[in-house]
Amino acid sequence: MIKDGLLVAQEVEQLNTGSSQQLRVHSIESFGTHDGPGIRMVVFVQGCQFRCLYCANPDTMDVKGGHFLEIEELVSRAIKQKPYFRKKGGVTVSGGEPLLQRSIIKKLFDRLHEENINTVLDSNGRLIDKPAKDLLDVTDLLMLDVKHFNNEWHKKLTRVSNTSTFKVAEYRESTGKPMWLRYVLVPGWSDQEEHLHGLGQHFKNYKTIERVEILPYHQLGVHKWEALGMEYKLKDVNPPDTQILEKTAAIFRNYFQDVRVN
Ligand code: SF4
Repeated sequence: MIKDGLLVAQEVEQLNTGSSQQLRVHSIESFGTHDGPGIRMVVFVQGCQFRCLYCANPDTMDVKGGHFLEIEELVSRAIKQKPYFRKKGGVTVSGGEPLLQRSIIKKLFDRLHEENINTVLDSNGRLIDKPAKDLLDVTDLLMLDVKHFNNEWHKKLTRVSNTSTFKVAEYRESTGKPMWLRYVLVPGWSDQEEHLHGLGQHFKNYKTIERVEILPYHQLGVHKWEALGMEYKLKDVNPPDTQILEKTAAIFRNYFQDVRVN
């Protein structure tokens, strides 16, 4: 079934019926230092239903692309890297959008916990249902990407509504487990002061938000859009300068204790 031009989320997971032990993966990075605490193995899963205008990895969007990897293969790779993880590191699943493969990733996280390996989920909060909650419950740290506080701007930036992203945050808060918010700062698109304050006001009483990361917009993915024959609409938008970044960080610091520019 197609709803609003999107496959419904349940059907995306069914695309992966090759085996209930296989994850549809785009790529894997060893020794990542930008996607969660410490040194991490980062699994970028394939498939995303957002269409962020600035997406640096548009080749991860196709829900039928990528390749399958067995969960045990991923676990054994993680075990090999475990000495480098030390206390803080572990495995991050990013994307693409991990929640589209929530049941399989839950199995992966359960196995990683059996090996005493820390788990991080980097998600745009695309959906929230029972299997998504089950995954969040075995996620040591959730990094939730909030693309915009205002729903109309969110739709302009990503094609879809931000409603479920806020529901995911709400659920995470109800569990008392830690979360970081990530915010991509795009000049002229996501730097409106009223909406930055709106986001701060909305989340200021959340006890589970340990950190807010501002991710400066960049154009590093443009060549991928061109290679895929897709139009990159933000060609004329420059990355934020120091002034915009500092102003945004200062606004967020009114509401959150730990605000960083990543
Ligand atoms: S959510 Fe991430 S992977 Fe999906 S389109 Fe946006 S930037 Fe790309």
